[in-house]
Amino acid sequence: MENYRPTKANVNLQAIQENLKNLQHYLPRQTAVIAVVKADGYGHGEVEVAQAAIEAGARMVSVATPDEALHLRDGGITADILVMGLSPVGFAAKAASLGIHLAVSDAGWLREAADYVKEADHPLNIHVKIDSGMGRIGLRDENALEDIIEVIEGSTNISLVGAFTHFACADEEDPSKTEEQFNRFMELVAEFPQRPPLIHASNSAATLLYPQYALDAVRFGIGLYGIAPSTYVGTKLPFELKKAFTLETELAYVKKVGKGERISYGGTYETTQDEWIGTLPIGYADGLNRGLRGQDVLIGGERMPIVGTICMDQCMVKLPHEFAAGERVTLIGRQGDEEITMEEWADRLGTIPYEVAVTIGKRVPRIY
Ligand SMILES: *Cc1c(COP(=O)(O)O)cnc(C)c1O
Repeated sequence: MENYRPTKANVNLQAIQENLKNLQHYLPRQTAVIAVVKADGYGHGEVEVAQAAIEAGARMVSVATPDEALHLRDGGITADILVMGLSPVGFAAKAASLGIHLAVSDAGWLREAADYVKEADHPLNIHVKIDSGMGRIGLRDENALEDIIEVIEGSTNISLVGAFTHFACADEEDPSKTEEQFNRFMELVAEFPQRPPLIHASNSAATLLYPQYALDAVRFGIGLYGIAPSTYVGTKLPFELKKAFTLETELAYVKKVGKGERISYGGTYETTQDEWIGTLPIGYADGLNRGLRGQDVLIGGERMPIVGTICMDQCMVKLPHEFAAGERVTLIGRQGDEEITMEEWADRLGTIPYEVAVTIGKRVPRIY
């Protein structure tokens, strides 16, 4: 596809592969990596990231929804895929035929699913989800687990591949909640008559802070993209995370305006002297949240602020002096010694870098 608009995201798949390789060096040898590529690979591109991660040694990939799994298959990804959220039972037969693993939280669901797949050519691969303290999905006690085990044992075409849980507070300084969750998880896992082959618990934060909880596999998401799960984890990284994403555009229009002129919707920015104002072809429809007014961008290796209301497709910046139209502008990424990160945007917006990553708009082409 041709892109005439200069607003683009560059995705460095090599950085993702380096992060994965460094992770594998750091993890115990027997621990596999499940590369988490939900939400379009945290905005980086689901199929491309999955391909790169598998090439670099990831054992499987995981997504949040059945549709994301199908999109990966359509995109030519042949590796095992785990859907970590719950799937409608009507998806079971398709999942079995496509080698898509499903999370199971409920014996009733599994009984129905077993019925759907009893004649299928391939078994349905399942990972039993255990709620050890996140309070989201997963079975919570021994009785519920026994019920599921009973269904598995009574079914012909269900293959128990894994059991997993999810930590709620692994990115925080206090390790006690995570330890509690891990212990509870292991207590329930011990109830299986035979240990499932793939026991996994850790997200990026737990993987980076607690290698002792790595078990058979880790589900590594945000860290794969070079982003620390929280400021705290960022101060404790066992190896460097390389950022994979930059957001760039060009100055579309440059003008000098006199003192006392108003800029953009609502006229809320007023020049205090003669000022050079640049217009950028990027706006909130591209994920440049209106709350990013005042945020710096990089031009010519220098920081300069977005001024006035951010429009749907454009915004204005205050330039320290004249620049030529066509000059490169970095919104996320590095120019010389200056760097603007998703973390910086997240701080300004009062959110987390995860949300910044997944809200960069679809309209911004990803260049690999
Ligand atoms: C999103 C998600 C992950 C990955 O979390 P990161 O913090 O991005 O590493 C792992 N497990 C589950 C169940 C998830 O939903």
